[in-house]
Amino acid sequence: MEQKRPDAVQKVGIIGAGQMGNGIAHVFAVAGYDVVLSDLTQELADEGLVKIKASLQRSVDKEKMTKDEAAQALARVSAVSSLDDIANTDLVIEAATENEQIKRQIFEELCPKLPEHTILSSNTSSISITRLASYTDRPERFMGLHFMNPVPVMQLVELIRGIATNEDTFQVFKQVTDSLNKVTANSEDFPAFIVNRILLPMINEAVYTLYEGVGSVEAIDTALKLGANHPMGPLELADFIGLDTCLSAMQVLFEGLADSKYRPCPLLVKYVEAGWIGKKVGRGFYDYRGEFPVPTR
Ligand code: NAD
Repeated sequence: MEQKRPDAVQKVGIIGAGQMGNGIAHVFAVAGYDVVLSDLTQELADEGLVKIKASLQRSVDKEKMTKDEAAQALARVSAVSSLDDIANTDLVIEAATENEQIKRQIFEELCPKLPEHTILSSNTSSISITRLASYTDRPERFMGLHFMNPVPVMQLVELIRGIATNEDTFQVFKQVTDSLNKVTANSEDFPAFIVNRILLPMINEAVYTLYEGVGSVEAIDTALKLGANHPMGPLELADFIGLDTCLSAMQVLFEGLADSKYRPCPLLVKYVEAGWIGKKVGRGFYDYRGEFPVPTR
């Protein structure tokens, strides 16, 4: 059943218009919120808007919404290139590149522009919410809101309280997430939370399996799809997530938990260094530039 939007949240700011940012903007706009979507340049923000338009059109094609509903949702999103335009929002979700320094700079620049009441969150896959909160002027009104990729399709949102997050903030984020018709799971603030604490070491192990020559890309993905009933193979999934994001999350696990079992596979590092970071750039463990994906090893 559809849940009511909280009165306190009308306008939502999303920082980063990449795979996650545009997906998050899509679901908020469909749920009736006004959305401001920002990226480093107007061109990048506009690209996000083009992707939202395409995914809304897919929903129309599948008869999940009418043409009018899609047009109304799209009209609720504005694409911007400056954090000044995020200033008059009630709730902010940071979905920029998985890099702590980038996120820190964003929060330090953004906070002085925000009204007192605005609540903040990060969609980080792995970075400490408590530490990110400490870069803001309102750690009690900050938490982790971890959407899954692709956002319009995946049901789950992890809710992560930092050490200072207050109950009111948690309840507003919970109500907002319910109003998007998503299911929530609460996680404590430890490296990579629940989903990626379990998923990323499995992906990293799949890359080790490839690195050690135990199996080819195709054999590894087929084995896990048909042998463990996974809808996608782990290498295909890594390409889908982005190998840069996977590597960052493994580094956070390795450093945060100080356990060698989280050591990022050197082959994963090599792919990232080559810029072969997955589907979003056309090449990762598979090459997506032709008609069909072709394994790159
Ligand atoms: P992405 O590379 O597709 O997009 C990141 C976007 O952030 C880019 O468009 C980039 O230009 C923009 N950006 C960088 N610096 C910025 C700045 N200073 N201001 C505004 N925008 C800036 O990455 P993504 O997959 O969308 O990941 C974004 C966040 O979501 C990361 O924290 C990631 O860990 C998290 N996340 C990713 C997934 C996934 O499966 N990819 C799933 C859940 C969460």
